[in-house]
Amino acid sequence: MEISVLRTMDSAGRIVVPKKLRVQNGLEAGAPVLIYQLGPGQLGLCRAGRECVLCGSPEILDEELPVCTGCAKKVAARLGARP
Ligand SMILES: [Zn+2]
Repeated sequence: MEISVLRTMDSAGRIVVPKKLRVQNGLEAGAPVLIYQLGPGQLGLCRAGRECVLCGSPEILDEELPVCTGCAKKVAARLGARP
């Protein structure tokens, strides 16, 4: 499923996520959202709940790093670092 929506950022850096996408992805007002860098000029965002943002596991390391131990190890291995 690939969906692209063109939006214009306001002077405060805000972007409105279309209601249809908010509803489809469980993004409610006040919900924490994780914004991450994909590459130069490329950002992604996802709902940051109490589950791993990569695999959905309910076990996460902490609120600042919402990924599970398994995914953290995979990312660390990919980056050549230790978790
Ligand atoms: Zn995970």
